[in-house]
Amino acid sequence: MKTVLVTGGAGFIGGNFVHFLVGKGGFRVVNLDKLTYAGNLDTLVSLEDHPRYRFVQGDIGDGKLVARLLKGEGVDAVVNFAAESHVDRSIEEPAEFIRTNVLGTFNLLDCARAYWNALEGEAKAGFRFLHVSTDEVYGSLGAEGLFTESSPYAPNSPYSASKASSDHLVRAWFHTYGLPVLTTNCSNNYGPYQFPEKLVPLFVHKALKGEPLPIYGDGANVRDWLYVEDHCSAIARVLATGRPGEVYNVGGNSERTNLQVIDTLCGLLDELVPDSPHRPHARLKTFVPDRPGHDLRYAIDASKLKNELGWLPAETFDSGMRRTVQWYLDNGDWVERVMDGSYRGERLGQSGDGI
Ligand code: NAD
Repeated sequence: MKTVLVTGGAGFIGGNFVHFLVGKGGFRVVNLDKLTYAGNLDTLVSLEDHPRYRFVQGDIGDGKLVARLLKGEGVDAVVNFAAESHVDRSIEEPAEFIRTNVLGTFNLLDCARAYWNALEGEAKAGFRFLHVSTDEVYGSLGAEGLFTESSPYAPNSPYSASKASSDHLVRAWFHTYGLPVLTTNCSNNYGPYQFPEKLVPLFVHKALKGEPLPIYGDGANVRDWLYVEDHCSAIARVLATGRPGEVYNVGGNSERTNLQVIDTLCGLLDELVPDSPHRPHARLKTFVPDRPGHDLRYAIDASKLKNELGWLPAETFDSGMRRTVQWYLDNGDWVERVMDGSYRGERLGQSGDGI
């Protein structure tokens, strides 16, 4: 039985990962989450009394708490999802991104180093610190090419700059102190339990209400879409078999323009909600001014993960999107509860509230 300290496990990807790991067996999960606007314990209600799950509300920047948890729980691995993650918010209020993504990660690393230094034998050899990062650290691509693990860093938003900083700290803690770290840089995730300020849940929600679907610029920005359960399986694979000090890119082999994503969503809603008064939902598309520094294209070369660790995504874009839209249709109460909480639609950025 391994004990994994998952940070940010009440968020979108972290929540899916907690379900994935507890469901897999052989793992005990301690979930450390500050419960910011993006954290939602509704996601984890079914695990509340699970013998291999514990929730702790707290900040990754709280050194005493993190040190106590590492030792007290006998942690075998840390998986760090905790972050401020929304680009629009980072443009409006970058300070929290520096506090959590940079200083918080620094604190986690330093606590992990002190804890790991005191371990011995197998416990020391087996300890891992896995840091979850983004392809946005590599900047923007033109029409051609893919990001590899050796692409130069060129972050363009306060969000991606803060994630890039944390990646550099993680790298340094390996090279300077020998802490057995792993870093994964992944593309745009979609799937169940995503906070409804992000494209897929937000647009499903708006389309069902017949509200305009605001699209930044001409909708030609390209992202590489990764189904969240595939991301979880990739992280588990890297944790189990990745080489300390290495970086692994995770992608879904699913490049789509924002317009293509929205057309797919609208087509699925037309099919899955045949009595909707708003069909065809594509007529709700509305173009709004672009956001500042909007990167044109991200695309991931995930061949290192495939060739070295044998990982491949299980879902295609079409199968993953269908599962996702169906999930939001089946779980409207989850979305409503999240929307009733601290969510405020007007905080979606200054340049037109688009995607
Ligand atoms: P999210 O915003 O849904 O969740 C973040 C979680 O972290 C929340 O539960 C929040 O309460 C918690 N948190 C924030 N600050 C904290 C702090 N100081 N201490 C403890 N907990 C804190 O984010 P997500 O979309 O699940 O992303 C998870 C990770 O994956 C992030 O590091 C993000 O940069 C990375 N990532 C996400 C995507 C994506 O498409 N969503 C893509 C690439 C990388």
